[in-house]
Amino acid sequence: MFLKRIELSGFKSFADRTEMEFVNGITAVVGPNGSGKSNISDGIRWVLGEQSAKSLRGGKMEDVIFAGSDARKAVNYGEVSLTLDNSDESLPLEYNEVTVTRRVHRSGESEYMINKQPCRLKDITELFMDTGIGKEAYSIIGQGRIEEILSTRSEDRRGIFEEASGIVKYKSRKREAQKKLDDTEQNLLRIHDLVTELE
Ligand code: ATP
Repeated sequence: MFLKRIELSGFKSFADRTEMEFVNGITAVVGPNGSGKSNISDGIRWVLGEQSAKSLRGGKMEDVIFAGSDARKAVNYGEVSLTLDNSDESLPLEYNEVTVTRRVHRSGESEYMINKQPCRLKDITELFMDTGIGKEAYSIIGQGRIEEILSTRSEDRRGIFEEASGIVKYKSRKREAQKKLDDTEQNLLRIHDLVTELE
């Protein structure tokens, strides 16, 4: 699996629809200071569900929408799509290409899509679980992240190894199953109380 294409429209400095194609292997993005290189990696993390405006170098989520310039008016929504090559079926979908999209309106409301079908953020998070791709995963190593990983608590560092070894999905399912068990236990207790009252 590799990132084949990114399309940005109304996202940060990318006022017009901008499409970048990547090939399998190493791609370097070069450009002068302030030309939007980091905005591309912000766009990738944003589609993968980043909810913290601060970590996208903004104050509020609306700040990711193109805010206008001397030459251009601001736009009303921002959108980013990532297309991944899935010919090795790393993602559990029967498509050779998978496109995930996020759109945000000035109201702050976000929409998510997988292959143009509306979905929930949870569906995107689950799709990429254990693949190493994700807003917190190791596929994006930002400035200062290496120091952060090395200086973090060992339990937090363990999360990175768990993601790499592919067990996060099972841990997440275990958590959900445990919650269902706890809820069922509570329901059984309630029923038991009712039965005792009726007897
Ligand atoms: P450097 O090499 O200095 O790290 P860079 O190429 O990574 O720079 P970015 O940080 O990606 O550049 O881009 C910064 C530019 O994006 C700034 O000019 C900023 O004004 C612009 N920008 C960020 N958010 C918006 C927005 N919402 N609307 C318009 N422009 C924006």
